[in-house]
Amino acid sequence: MHDLDQFTETITICDEECPYDPKRKIALVMCENCSNQEEVDVVSVENGKGTVYGFMCSQCGHFNQPCE
Ligand SMILES: [Zn+2]
Repeated sequence: MHDLDQFTETITICDEECPYDPKRKIALVMCENCSNQEEVDVVSVENGKGTVYGFMCSQCGHFNQPCE
């Protein structure tokens, strides 16, 4: 379970709107394979668009590639 109270903002990652925790710089990004929402470190946020590195899904093990 994620504490959604901490995700007070919404940023766009890979053209998807994702809940974002500005204090921890973590966004909930959906796994493209199984739609699990994964907590992912956000490298930077600019004009509401977030940049993330690729991440491994903890549920299905799929590696989600980073996108521009
Ligand atoms: Zn997955």
